[in-house]
Amino acid sequence: MFSPLMKIPVGDIPQSPKEISFSENIAGLSDIYSKYRSGDFRFPPRLDVKLVYYRSGRQLFFQGSLRGTFEGSCSRCLSEYTFELNKDFEFVLSPAVSKPDRKIEELSREDLGLSYYSTDEIDLMPLILEQVLLALPTRPLCDENCRGFCAGCGANLNQEACVCSAAGDDPRMAIFRSLKVGR
Ligand SMILES: [Zn+2]
Ligand SMILES: [Zn+2]
Repeated sequence: MFSPLMKIPVGDIPQSPKEISFSENIAGLSDIYSKYRSGDFRFPPRLDVKLVYYRSGRQLFFQGSLRGTFEGSCSRCLSEYTFELNKDFEFVLSPAVSKPDRKIEELSREDLGLSYYSTDEIDLMPLILEQVLLALPTRPLCDENCRGFCAGCGANLNQEACVCSAAGDDPRMAIFRSLKVGR
């Protein structure tokens, strides 16, 4: 499903920084993603990635940026919207010292972007996916100022006036009215 570009043999990682850029088909990631997040976001068919990588001793350094147009379902007004995700990232992979037989450990989250590799080939896909997940907002909003639905009348406040406040019987307002009356 993924191109071989996304796998870099450790032995091919040079000491002087090497720069690559590619546009990766990540259509399949939406399915993987929706299994452990509730499907708030949908991934674009392609992700543009720029990457610089090099080694220092056995430590592998990666710096890059990713860009793609994602889709979300607004958590306030439920509308579908698209947004551009741009993220610069960097991470360092250190060789895992123990359990050489253990499968890919790159996804183990550590502070400072420090993770481990235990294979002789670095699979970039899970590493880049992790960067995408770090870059995505915690919850989808079509707009910072999205007004969502009125809890009283259900009007989409981005598109129409609230009916219940016009009628003056929004139950949430009653307490303010009574406060005023009390003074
Ligand atoms: Zn919204
Ligand atoms: Zn209302």
